[in-house]
Amino acid sequence: MIKPQTFIFYGIVGSGKGTQVELLQKYLKDNNFSDDVLFTSTGSEFRELIKVDSYTSSKVKNTMEKGFLQPNFLTTSLFANILIKNLKENTTIIADGYPRTVEQSEAFEDMMNFYDRNEVKIIYIELDKEEAIKRMKLRGRADDTDEGIANRFDEYIKNVVPSMNYFMNKGGYTIYTINGSQSINDVHTEIISKLNFI
Ligand code: AMP
Repeated sequence: MIKPQTFIFYGIVGSGKGTQVELLQKYLKDNNFSDDVLFTSTGSEFRELIKVDSYTSSKVKNTMEKGFLQPNFLTTSLFANILIKNLKENTTIIADGYPRTVEQSEAFEDMMNFYDRNEVKIIYIELDKEEAIKRMKLRGRADDTDEGIANRFDEYIKNVVPSMNYFMNKGGYTIYTINGSQSINDVHTEIISKLNFI
């Protein structure tokens, strides 16, 4: 057993971030490093939300199809609710897709202060845009239209990169940069070796 960890994953759309989150989660469980791993994906929360017929969900659906980020108040409230419902003192958190704006980074920092999580590990899967586009076109998700892809790249540059930069040179955050152009297994192996358990 290792002490409960807090991980944030960053990576351009199509970088294989979701797959690597799953592999890390499995690794932690299989090796008995953590008996409780909380995987949080705001993207999945939004996909659930739009299945329900409501005024809010119709607005969310529209924003999502266009590939834009949802407003901070909705996203932060979804993320905070996951923590409220599921977080225990010994829970390892893996955050996939949150925070994605500077405002969300500030909110995240506030939450982690509240829960006395003073060591956050950021895993940044680095991949160039051309390779990311190629991979996304193979995936075929509802928001993987040309317009959706283009807007998600814009959001990445405009909001997600500043959200990650927010943590740079701040105490309490370690950033691990991983080469995302490798095979799924090699990316996973690089993550595990860089985390050097722990
Ligand atoms: P993902 O599955 O992480 O690619 O997210 C799919 C969609 O959900 C995004 O295009 C956004 O519309 C929304 N979304 C997910 N996470 C966030 C976030 N942290 N902030 C704002 N919107 C988000």
